[in-house]
Amino acid sequence: MTATEIIVLVVAIAAIILVVGSIALVAGRKRVGPPTTPSVDSGAPDAALTPSPDQPLIVESSAPGASTTTLERPEPIASRLVRLRQRLSGQGALGRGLLLLLSRDPLDEDTWEAVEDSLITADIGVGPTGELVEKLRERLRVEGGGADQAKAILAEELLALVDPGMDRSLNLVGPDGLPGVVMVVGVNGAGKTTSVGKLARVMVAEDKNVVLGAADTFRAAATEQLKTWGERVGVDVVAGPEGSDPASVAFDSVKEGLDRGADVVVVDTAGRLQNKQGLMDELGKVKRVIEKQAPLSEVLLVLDATTGQNGLIQARVFGEVVDVTGIVLTKLDGTAKGGIVVAVQRELGVPVKLVGLGEGPDDLAPFDPKTFVDAILSA
Ligand code: GDP
Repeated sequence: MTATEIIVLVVAIAAIILVVGSIALVAGRKRVGPPTTPSVDSGAPDAALTPSPDQPLIVESSAPGASTTTLERPEPIASRLVRLRQRLSGQGALGRGLLLLLSRDPLDEDTWEAVEDSLITADIGVGPTGELVEKLRERLRVEGGGADQAKAILAEELLALVDPGMDRSLNLVGPDGLPGVVMVVGVNGAGKTTSVGKLARVMVAEDKNVVLGAADTFRAAATEQLKTWGERVGVDVVAGPEGSDPASVAFDSVKEGLDRGADVVVVDTAGRLQNKQGLMDELGKVKRVIEKQAPLSEVLLVLDATTGQNGLIQARVFGEVVDVTGIVLTKLDGTAKGGIVVAVQRELGVPVKLVGLGEGPDDLAPFDPKTFVDAILSA
């Protein structure tokens, strides 16, 4: 064989290897395209792509021009409130003001009036304010003064008011192997969809198999918003066309959860507070179709902590329409009026279970009364 023939042969073999290699690469690539079921936006990763706890980021790369999905590993929930504690710093103004007043000598009527005013300004509510002031007056009279003593008494009484005895755990387990079903309600703008997205991440961090239902079909962006949340952590979102019946999306979501043997289905709902009857009809229907398939484990009311009295009025209306089992208090990072925690728990008789402390994806934390009171009193 001549040298020229050898070169031609080598080039030919190299070309064959290149062609075969490219075909294998294309065939082995994960399919990126429309979901198989039209109503389900599949964010679920292949089994091989499921992140393991020690694998913080999974990158699914596709051919140039195709979409690239990066699955995030959300932060475990236990450490969150500690991380987010500084976001509660707005509450410190209340504590500083109260401690300054309580260290006055003597504690005259004007001072007690000023104490009352600052508690009411922090949205604690008139009833709880009266109770707290009465307790503080009594204890400071009997147990004596001193700044440290006043601070200790205030801490104890504030904690009692926030009620550390309430069960704040989320019930995410359905009976008889059924998925836990969480319905999330609240007015538009409260942070409902964001909280559903954040909640999905909490569950993913706990290795739960989750399905989200985009039943807020009235707000155009809500479905897309939820899909984006789902895609980031590989959670499927069941959605319908814009303006479709929220109850039918809720039904399909729970059905999807049942079919897949999911651990939890979280259904976002539309938050139109047009009138009580309309809301009752709408949420009542959503609830009924869900419960045809599986009982509700949690009904979470999302409230914006910055809305004060308005938020309380909303809470009252929703409380009359559905059996709320827990409150998600959002935007607590943006307000000094953390007293709303006390007011809304009193109003509904159910605990604040989660708090939103920012717009970041993992800025949702379990509500811990002790950390909260510490934040109020950290001068
Ligand atoms: P929805 O209409 O109730 O579904 O409200 P969205 O989920 O769309 O949220 C409304 C706005 O509130 C968005 O800009 C969110 O980023 C913002 N938001 C939600 N929760 C929080 C929170 O805890 N803190 C802050 N600062 N912003 C939040």
